Amino acid sequence: MNKNTKNSCINDFDPSALDEITAVSRILKSITTMKDTETINIKDALGRIVSKNIKSSINIPSFRNSAMDGYAINIKNLKQNKYVLNEQGISLAGQPYYKKLKNKETVKVMTGAVIPDNADAIIMKEMVDKKGNIISFPDCIQKDQNIRNIGEDIKKGDKVLTKGRQINYVDLAILSSLGMSKIDVLKKPIVSFFSTGDELISVNKKLKKGQIYDSNRYLLFGLLSELPVEIKDMGVARDNERILIKKLKECSGLSDIIITTGGVSVGDADYIKSALKKAGKVNFWKIAIKPGRPLAFGKIKNASFFGLPGNPVSAAVTFQIFIIPAIKKMLNMLTSSKLAVNAIVKSTLSKKKGRVEYKRGLLEQKNGINIVNTTGLQGSNILSSLSKANCYIRLDSKTEKIKKGDTVEVLPFNIDL
Ligand code: AMP
Ligand code: MG
Repeated sequence: MNKNTKNSCINDFDPSALDEITAVSRILKSITTMKDTETINIKDALGRIVSKNIKSSINIPSFRNSAMDGYAINIKNLKQNKYVLNEQGISLAGQPYYKKLKNKETVKVMTGAVIPDNADAIIMKEMVDKKGNIISFPDCIQKDQNIRNIGEDIKKGDKVLTKGRQINYVDLAILSSLGMSKIDVLKKPIVSFFSTGDELISVNKKLKKGQIYDSNRYLLFGLLSELPVEIKDMGVARDNERILIKKLKECSGLSDIIITTGGVSVGDADYIKSALKKAGKVNFWKIAIKPGRPLAFGKIKNASFFGLPGNPVSAAVTFQIFIIPAIKKMLNMLTSSKLAVNAIVKSTLSKKKGRVEYKRGLLEQKNGINIVNTTGLQGSNILSSLSKANCYIRLDSKTEKIKKGDTVEVLPFNIDL
């Protein structure tokens, strides 16, 4: 018996389970980056991945304009202690006043309007006294005040979007402000998925004893919908090795990634691992994390296969930890590591040594201090505690016991900086 096996008896450590980090790196090693690109309208580009660097073909702003509603002046035209000028005309956004300012002259300007070439300051409308055409204002003026200069936001030739960036709403505004209507993006990888289990029935049908509704397909649909992938819902398969092999082969012909849930453990009706072995190649199938220990990963033809556990929370956690990085690698997405924060835990947490555990938590800030509490029962079948959570509390494999008041690592949901 080696040292690890001995440990396992005391600590519930499964020596054949891969640790989380090794599992992620084995997945990433086996994933190749997609090359195919397409040109799409920017309105369809939200969430898509930029396939080549985008440079600006113009300056933004492309002309000097006013940052305020007010009066354009040339400071040289002011005589000491005489801040009085004649209003000569008006420049509106989209309706410029083209002439230069002469001595003692000012032009009324609106926000975004072209300013005269020799204007070097804008006086806010609110600072001005106006009598007929004559305006007067206080003497606290700085050169260039309230003027937006050419290229101060984006210069011609600047890189505005980097290859691998996921396009967000600001990018849509930037692309349109450059006058671009189309953009080159990576094609979406095709992800097919199906549930496995004789107990599963579809929503809308009447439950018989022993049956449950297939919720994992909706969970996966929701998780995948947030990613730039094409989704193929392949339904449900019974717990039958022959049927599973057939379905896996069918999926491998039409997708880049195949995901199943259920049937991946060591139960009498768990056929995913053996079906994967016959249809393709198993890379690994157990990881030292909770929830989510059984997770089969392998290849079927050119498709990557993820056999997630049937328990819904395990399926969600393993999707987030293992499949999201795989899809990001496939799309060559620029990623930075997940933002983790420290928080003080409100209650004692139980934890087994030798595996990473993800607890569902609610993170709050009180008087500037991060405080986290678990959201209820932590069984991998308990979806309601995942629904109440806004973060995972991540406890590493060395940790054994967490006492109330200890500091823990927390991964907030929906923050991926
Ligand atoms: P399994 O991984 O097949 O042993 O399933 C583990 C647990 O997850 C069992 O209680 C299953 O009934 C449940 N389960 C499996 N598939 C689904 C599904 N698609 N939707 C909801 N629960 C499921
Ligand atoms: Mg099952």
